[in-house]
Amino acid sequence: MNSVASRPCGRRATLAAVMCLTVVACGGLPDLGPVDLLITGGRVMDPDSGLDAVLNVAVRDGVIVALTEDTPEAHEVVDAGGLVVAPGFIDLHAHGQDPESSRYQARDGVTTAMELEIGVYPVGPWYAAREGRALIHFGASVSHQGARREAFGVMVAETSGAGTLLLGRGGASDAYLYEAASEDELHRLIRLMERELDQGGLGFGFGISYTPGARHLELWRLFATAADRQVPVFIHLRSAGAFRAGGAIAPFQEVVANAAATGASVHIVHMNSSAGEAAPSVLELIRGAQAHGVDVTTEAYPYTASASRIESALFDGWANRTDAAYQELQWVETGARLTEETFRTYREQGGWVIMHGRVEETNEWVVSQPDVIAASDGIPFSDGRAHPRGAGTFARILGHYVRDRGVLSLMDGLRKMTLLPARRLETVAPQMAAKGRVQVGADADLTLFDPDRVIDRATYDAPDRFSEGILHVLVAGTFVVRDEALVDGVTPGQAIRAPTP
Ligand SMILES: [Zn+2]
Repeated sequence: MNSVASRPCGRRATLAAVMCLTVVACGGLPDLGPVDLLITGGRVMDPDSGLDAVLNVAVRDGVIVALTEDTPEAHEVVDAGGLVVAPGFIDLHAHGQDPESSRYQARDGVTTAMELEIGVYPVGPWYAAREGRALIHFGASVSHQGARREAFGVMVAETSGAGTLLLGRGGASDAYLYEAASEDELHRLIRLMERELDQGGLGFGFGISYTPGARHLELWRLFATAADRQVPVFIHLRSAGAFRAGGAIAPFQEVVANAAATGASVHIVHMNSSAGEAAPSVLELIRGAQAHGVDVTTEAYPYTASASRIESALFDGWANRTDAAYQELQWVETGARLTEETFRTYREQGGWVIMHGRVEETNEWVVSQPDVIAASDGIPFSDGRAHPRGAGTFARILGHYVRDRGVLSLMDGLRKMTLLPARRLETVAPQMAAKGRVQVGADADLTLFDPDRVIDRATYDAPDRFSEGILHVLVAGTFVVRDEALVDGVTPGQAIRAPTP
């Protein structure tokens, strides 16, 4: 068999390449005709079927139409010799939903980036503002915090210039962050969140430690609503300090229990920062729940420092810490480490801060787990400097952890950033079934990189550096990165959204 052709397999029926590979034995490509693009001689890796072979990839109308040893006629040919041809990377957790951040992500191999943790509110205008203007595919969940704000009588959610929801100002000044919802407010909240699902929101997004007033009952009821509507829940867990004798594992137990009791699907964001040293126990808990039929997944970014808004409720308990504790905080705008005095000044002013202090050994262990999805948690570059994870997450996993450290196979590394995030969203966004795969009938979202050279360059002190070794990136068949440079003036990014009634 010298080719795996497209025609006998319709787009819907053939997403499993394995089906095509085994069922369709074609001697040639008789009616393929000229294709738009032929990518020749690359090492095609598809984590779904396990395909790992040097093949030519034919693309027409933004869709992969053949994986073949033949060379069908094409309007354009790109030599991918020595390169891996992988599905475009899918980032479930990207706060930088602005053109600047998308450029860093595209250079890191990302073809789809979504704001699912905190979410957006309201959903309709957020999608409308990006339609036809985006470099890469985009999408968002319904923000619990945004809806809670309205349910408490504040009509407009606070957003940054680029439209990303802010995390609210801590210090017990805002009722919608700190107060328990009354029965009326809870009803209103549920109604508002359901209304936004009807606008195409990809499930519910919770940053529950930023809204400490949300009680366990509220979260459980919203899980029940999500289950009822068959949409996933994405959640930054409650702070461990909210559980008297819990430790890091307790917040995980809360959401696993809610998922088990309601039938909701739950995706726990950045387990690396939420679990810390308890990561092995936490993953055992998650895997145990999965084994008993609970739909729970998790993700991590490959860095030992996190980042957040200094004015948010996350820093409410930070008065009178030790000098060493303030030293672990780094002000994003200047790169300077904080003191008690600068902490107070910046908390008043508001802005992004990096929190150092986690252990690399645990970080590496988490990254090496094949079932922990890779997601950046990148913060916006639209305001200037940011955390390096928004620019380097994916190249760092492939270059540092897969190649240099050898803690993860290349196929497992790719699966974490392509197939697994696509599958997480397939029930709410059927279009994701055509992403995260290099298969006939799949979308031509492709990332071509040099496995010997791929590496992140962004650092805490110089976060604004593009990754290296990612040569070509295609979004729906259009080059957004070519010969390791951004392509100007292209906006092939499409909305990833739930079907609207
Ligand atoms: Zn978070």
